Amino acid sequence: MDGRNVTDLDVTGPDESVNAPRDTPTQIEFRNVSKRYGTVSALANFSLAVSRGEFLTILGPSGSGKTTALMLLAGFVQPSDGDILIGGRSVSAVPPYRRDQGIVFQNYALFPHLTVRRNLQFPLEMRGMALVERAVRVDRILERVQLSELGDRMPSQLSGGQQQRVALARALIADAPVLLLDEPLGALDRNLREQMQTEIKGLHKEFAKTTVCVTHDQEEALTLSDRIVVMRDGQIEQIDTPEALYDRPATKFVANFLGEANILDRPGTIVASDLIRPPTAVALIRPERMFIAAKRRPRRLEADISQAVSGVVIDMVYAGPRRKYLVRLEDGADIIIREHVASGLDVFHSGDEVRVEWLRTDVRFVTP
Ligand code: ADP
Ligand code: MG
Repeated sequence: MDGRNVTDLDVTGPDESVNAPRDTPTQIEFRNVSKRYGTVSALANFSLAVSRGEFLTILGPSGSGKTTALMLLAGFVQPSDGDILIGGRSVSAVPPYRRDQGIVFQNYALFPHLTVRRNLQFPLEMRGMALVERAVRVDRILERVQLSELGDRMPSQLSGGQQQRVALARALIADAPVLLLDEPLGALDRNLREQMQTEIKGLHKEFAKTTVCVTHDQEEALTLSDRIVVMRDGQIEQIDTPEALYDRPATKFVANFLGEANILDRPGTIVASDLIRPPTAVALIRPERMFIAAKRRPRRLEADISQAVSGVVIDMVYAGPRRKYLVRLEDGADIIIREHVASGLDVFHSGDEVRVEWLRTDVRFVTP
């Protein structure tokens, strides 16, 4: 990014930001923010720092407080406690329309009675921009999102994907430093969603806006984000990069929410006994890190690096390039194994007695 210098870094002081990567200045900061509705705690002790230019996603199940966090940031909701800073300054007294951020709402929220062009002009009018410059900007952004031909249509005359493009364009057109997205792809079907993920990624790379995105879709979060905040019941469960969250989840909740997780928590199952196992932790092994083999024909014989238990195949599902096995281990635990179809691999069927193996280094411990 351009324009970063020592002065920028001094805005919030060196030690004030929470969880932010060290080398970029903080753009947005939640300090111990709580929001209560009567007796319902929608958000509790929410502390988070988002770096300039970062793409941060708030991920969690329905009702976990994601939209509340975003609406607090946008200024449509006031915190019960705590403070929110944007660019180092508290925004508690700043109304939404003066917070200088572009927003894409879940349902796009385009003005239905205005053409695409007028929808795009709206944020510029709000900022008092002259007519000529408005027209230039609208043309430029329409071209960028490949909608130049559709400027005179009404929103109802556009497909879902096109409406979504207009909503993104409208959020970007005023060049505000912060972009907020609430379930931006929630209303699109699968193919379109993947296409729009690529589109959003491209726009983020090009415009480098500090972006806070809210979603319940793990794939969307993993694909788009620099970092992900996993929410549970109004509280932060874990914050990390997509890779770290998937590979080293701290809790069973995170392991299950991001991808599939085999949890081995029965007494008697020998799991990585040489590793230091926290007293309350359970073992996690991802389905793609497990191997299935004939009972008397181990696939990996290096006993020092691998472990094995016996089991019976309950089901096998063939899905193009991959096979998915459901196996009941001898201690009664049901686990999933995913493997890529390859020549030379044995195929097992329901009822087969098998050996399930994994590398000790692929075992993770998570708190229940
Ligand atoms: P998410 O976006 O993760 O689905 P929300 O932030 O919308 O979750 O909601 C978090 C919790 O706060 C939920 O229990 C929800 O019912 C409650 N909540 C949100 N907004 C209000 C409101 N305006 N009045 C009362 N309760 C609310
Ligand atoms: Mg929501």
